[in-house]
Amino acid sequence: MEKILVSACLMGHAVRYDGKAKPFLHPVLERWSAEGRLVALCPEMAAGLPVPRPPAEIVGAGGGTAVLGGTARVMEATGRDVTAVFQRAADHALTVARDAGCRFALLIDGSPSCGSLAIYDGHFAGTRIAGQGVVAARLSQAGIAVFAPRDIEALAARLAV
Ligand code: SF4
Repeated sequence: MEKILVSACLMGHAVRYDGKAKPFLHPVLERWSAEGRLVALCPEMAAGLPVPRPPAEIVGAGGGTAVLGGTARVMEATGRDVTAVFQRAADHALTVARDAGCRFALLIDGSPSCGSLAIYDGHFAGTRIAGQGVVAARLSQAGIAVFAPRDIEALAARLAV
C-alpha cells in the first residue's frame, strides 16, 4: 500500500509555531488515515524545536532549495539564525519518508519547512511568494512528489494510477 508523508499539523497535531494545529478536513484524507497510509511528521519538532516557538521565514532568494545550497538562511523573527536546524529537519524528513517507502508527500503551504507551493518572503510582513520550504525542497530533490492540500484530488489521481 502506497504511504504518504503528511505535515503533522494538517492531521490536527498542535505542533505549529503558535502552538496550534491547522487540521485539514477532507474525506480523502480521512479515508487514507483509516487505511493506515499516512505518516504524520512535524519536521521542525523532530529537529528539536519547541512548541510554541518564534515564527521563522526564509531570508534570501531561492526558497528552500537555496537554504539547502547555502545561499539563503532561515531566520526567526527574533533574529536567531536557525538555518542548520531547518537543514537537519529536511534531512530527517527524507529519512522518515524513505524508511516508510513514501513516494508522495502532502505538505501544508506557507511554512518555511513544509511549504509546498508558497512561502513567506522573509520580511515577516505576511507576504507570500511562490516557492518551497526546506523540507519540501529536500523531498522534491530526492524524487518524492510534494502536493499541497488544495491538490489532494490530484494526489489521489496519482495514487489511483
Ligand atoms: S514544520 Fe510542517 S508539520 Fe511542523 S508545524 Fe510547521 S508546517 Fe506543520
